[in-house]
Amino acid sequence: MSDRRMVFQENRLWLPFEALPANLPVEASLRLPEGWLAQRVSPGQAVPLGVEALGLRDAHPRMAQEDWLQAGRAYQWLEWEGGHRFCGGCASALKPGEGQGRRCPACGRTVFPSNATAIIVLIHRGEGGRRQWALARSPHFKPGVYSAVAGFTEPGESLEECVHREVAEELGIRIQRLSYFGSQPWPFPNGLMVGFTAEYLDGELQADPSELEDARWFGRDDMPPLPSPISIARWMIDAALDVR
Ligand SMILES: [Zn+2]
Repeated sequence: MSDRRMVFQENRLWLPFEALPANLPVEASLRLPEGWLAQRVSPGQAVPLGVEALGLRDAHPRMAQEDWLQAGRAYQWLEWEGGHRFCGGCASALKPGEGQGRRCPACGRTVFPSNATAIIVLIHRGEGGRRQWALARSPHFKPGVYSAVAGFTEPGESLEECVHREVAEELGIRIQRLSYFGSQPWPFPNGLMVGFTAEYLDGELQADPSELEDARWFGRDDMPPLPSPISIARWMIDAALDVR
């Protein structure tokens, strides 16, 4: 069986797969489901002729969605592996351990790859043609783009508590009828985005200036530029607007 192979150099994927040379010196290798072999080459390795090194976002339009998801999985694992070569307890070199874990031969500590879990919530108010959605603008977004509000969970917090806290902190409002939408692995660098929809309850919509440039209610007919179709934020907004 011939493996399909992908190669990462730092946070860049080498494309197209067909142009990868057969023999490359690699720093790490990972077997993925569905016959993929993911490898990482050193930062100093010259990019081969006919190959382009692309960040995962830029690679997305050039790949099948299924392959892109595998690349995201590989990137998160390789990234974690590269950042966990030594024990956080006693600084000995870690060895391969159970499953995807790595184990310290000196003190017995075992570490496993972890996700940074984040919530994202699309809040609405009003009914029918008068329905509006609360969207916010972060200074990191492309010019003009607004999106649903997102934030990382804190240790000890449930997803639901996180949604209510983030909405209160970032938008100054309260919500009700929280409902699960879906989730998305988000390999920038190791996230899991968990999407919710919710109904506005009360409060005055006001962007937290430490995190956001602006937040507003938008109706179906005055939507601002929206995030890329790569993201769950956009899937949620499209679903709300019933765009197919
Ligand atoms: Zn140790």
